[in-house]
Amino acid sequence: MANIKSKAIRDSRDIHDLTFYKFAIESLPVAVMTVDPELRITGFNASAEEVTGYSKEETVGQHCGKILNGELCKINCPLRTILNHRESVVRTESIIYNKFGEIVPIRQHAAGLLNEDGKLIGGLEAFVDISHSKFLEREKASLISMFAHDMKSPLISIQGFVLRLLQNAVEIDEEMRKKYLKIIKLEASKLESLIDGFLEYSRLQTGKLNFNFTATSLDKELIEIYETYQAKGSQKGILFELQNAETLPIIEADSKYLKRVFSNLLDNALKYSGEKGLITITTQHADQYITVKIKDRGSGIDSKDLPYIFDPFYQGYGEKRGKGYGLGLAVVKAIVDGHGGKIFVESESGKGSVFTVVLPKAKKPEKHMSSNG
Ligand code: ADP
Repeated sequence: MANIKSKAIRDSRDIHDLTFYKFAIESLPVAVMTVDPELRITGFNASAEEVTGYSKEETVGQHCGKILNGELCKINCPLRTILNHRESVVRTESIIYNKFGEIVPIRQHAAGLLNEDGKLIGGLEAFVDISHSKFLEREKASLISMFAHDMKSPLISIQGFVLRLLQNAVEIDEEMRKKYLKIIKLEASKLESLIDGFLEYSRLQTGKLNFNFTATSLDKELIEIYETYQAKGSQKGILFELQNAETLPIIEADSKYLKRVFSNLLDNALKYSGEKGLITITTQHADQYITVKIKDRGSGIDSKDLPYIFDPFYQGYGEKRGKGYGLGLAVVKAIVDGHGGKIFVESESGKGSVFTVVLPKAKKPEKHMSSNG
């Protein structure tokens, strides 16, 4: 009787364990596929369905190579290595093709499945989609190479003039020496502003830059900025107008960085406006948001450039190309994102551009934290 009872308890524990493992594997955020010794699929969890695009029903009984269609399937299948060579675990990174023929980079672990007697009865492959981290790696590499590329031209110029000064020290008169030194100073300050811009952008991206959120009067900040730009614009015959019909409510923001947002946008509006242009700053507020629009009647942005202008180092193909480093709008977007806001642009070549900044009245911590990574 006691034996029957303890067997019943063992059986119910086994069933409990089995249900637990089935449930755990099914809900893992990692794709899991099991195969028999002939590499035919015996199990396929929900994450595997998500990564490959196939349903469990479509895969069970199929040869795993037919479903994963991966670069290693034919030449160096990790599961075959496990089953043929009895290796315990194989870890690799490779690519597979999903049901729709799209490439999916994955990190995979393959292991043998043993029964209670230690006999190999199949294999298990766990894999995760690493497209996002691969994308970030590529982004990082391309950012660094663009940065290095932009650093080269001022550096080459500095090197050239220093060499001339060193090699022809005797022939160079005082006036020439001063001219060369001025060029070196200018190129060095270009380098400094590129490095500062890049460091600021990368700090904003990695969240190393902490915003100091305080009660901020955007009206006050915008009036100060407007007065500064009125003076700057008058040198070029460009007029600024500030249309702030209603008083804006106080918002939680980092006023120093918001100033940066509007200065960068107004610098661009000024840079891309012709002589005697008009630049309008308009403010509005609704329930939860404040909107600031900056409108210029300048060169406008080509529709081919529009999707990319907020990307770091991107410069449009206008006549002012090369006058900056393409970091201004990337910094603007990073700051606006850090405030839980949004930035939009509408533009037409030859007619001008409107940049719209939408800011929440109250700080949105979740958004700020997520952009801080
Ligand atoms: P840049 O240093 O080149 O001005 P930004 O990041 O500030 O870099 O701007 C990226 C690109 O967006 C510019 O090269 C330009 O083509 C375009 N752009 C930005 N603002 C304006 C504007 N107000 N009018 C026309 N083009 C603009």
